[in-house]
Amino acid sequence: MPNPQQALRELPSIELLVKALAELCPLPRALITSFVQREITRHRKEILAGASLNREEIEKDITERLTNFSTSRLQPVINATGVIIHTNLGRSPLGAVAAQKLTEIATGYCNLEFNLPDGNRGKRAGYLETALASLLGAEAATSVNNCAAALVLTLRHLCIDGKNEVIVSRSELVEIGGGFRIPEILETSGAKLVEVGATNKTHLNDYAKAITPQTAMILKVHRSNFYIGGFTDEPEVIELAELAHSHGLPLVEDIGSGAMMDTDTLAPIDHEPTPQEALKNGIDLICFSGDKLLGGPQSGIIAGKAELIAGIKQEPFFRAVRCDKLILTVLQECIDTYLATKSEPDIGHVPALQFIAEKVQNLRKRAENIISQLPEHLQSRCAITDSTARTGGGTMPKSEIPSIAISITPEKTSVNQMAKRLRTGTPAAVGTVEGGRLHLDLRTVFPHQDLALVQSLSQV
Ligand SMILES: *Cc1c(COP(=O)(O)O)cnc(C)c1O
Repeated sequence: MPNPQQALRELPSIELLVKALAELCPLPRALITSFVQREITRHRKEILAGASLNREEIEKDITERLTNFSTSRLQPVINATGVIIHTNLGRSPLGAVAAQKLTEIATGYCNLEFNLPDGNRGKRAGYLETALASLLGAEAATSVNNCAAALVLTLRHLCIDGKNEVIVSRSELVEIGGGFRIPEILETSGAKLVEVGATNKTHLNDYAKAITPQTAMILKVHRSNFYIGGFTDEPEVIELAELAHSHGLPLVEDIGSGAMMDTDTLAPIDHEPTPQEALKNGIDLICFSGDKLLGGPQSGIIAGKAELIAGIKQEPFFRAVRCDKLILTVLQECIDTYLATKSEPDIGHVPALQFIAEKVQNLRKRAENIISQLPEHLQSRCAITDSTARTGGGTMPKSEIPSIAISITPEKTSVNQMAKRLRTGTPAAVGTVEGGRLHLDLRTVFPHQDLALVQSLSQV
């Protein structure tokens, strides 16, 4: 058992350690100081509990923890995973025009709730709501912080005491991830889940039999991150809408991704349902995410019957989940982009769609170009391989998009070490490790990042 008093003398001086770390880590000094203080306190406790560490080990441990902590600061990342809407990497990137508008609004004042012609208080998001409704072919529309909030708000509005049963097919009790599960979302919204049908088949009659005087609505949920095959069946939306409406009930659909165009025309992939189709088929209210295939900022869009949208906007909870001016600006830009190019969508403004549509031969050329710029010893470790990209982020779970990857077998270090060095470099680059090789899928790498990728690779 070491003598604790003696061991405590091994604790480094906070002041000296902070000074050394400040040169190593570009973090605010006050943050480094409090980090080091907390770490020293922890080491002191461990020493008093019998741990024996020398000064060098303690310094090394604290340095490593601080460097890891500093990489958690939000920073740009090169996405070489091939997953286009990667939730952990921030879902959809914004187009350059939207980003430019964001800067303009963010750095000054704006007419957020101000009517410029008459100089009085104005309606928040008035323009956006009209533009959204026009794009979606809906009577009315609005936006909130995310799709989860949109669904909770919709449920809270439509479910009242004694009339709060929500009918959902057993094939649509989805868990999206990040704590979003349909049964639990219903519960927190004061709704009572009434499950109908079986996992693979739900018939119109299953819905019909479940309707009672306590029914508040019928809910459909898009199976956005899984699919069912084999013997499956479900009623057409038009039939379901007829059933709901004949009982005076609203039919609501959480369609998840909000693709504005036919995804199957971009690449050989599935057709993702569009909000326009859903509304045309008789859905009374739809909700979807702004930052999936729509390609906008994190937000949730609700669209449909004017009376229902007006009611939702009256809910006190609406105030708690409303969008701020920065989100509204980007969303407005994004929706205008689609409206401006309605006949033939110009995907140039929506990076996620551009990534889906990019031609394999272009990716191959870029891969050749990147490899040719690497140091020779590294070139010999690289191969161009066929790869499979995905839309990801709760969209088209079956869709595999042919893609191209640079596949690297490192020479002197392990593949995991190499992947880690790329992830912790500047800029950080994230690939995937498979079969002892590091794969960098180019479908999700912006062409303007190719040079940075060359530099990052040359450094590791
Ligand atoms: C992604 C998704 C959600 C959650 O959307 P957020 O905007 O992340 O809240 C909800 N429902 C479905 C069907 C989804 O695909």
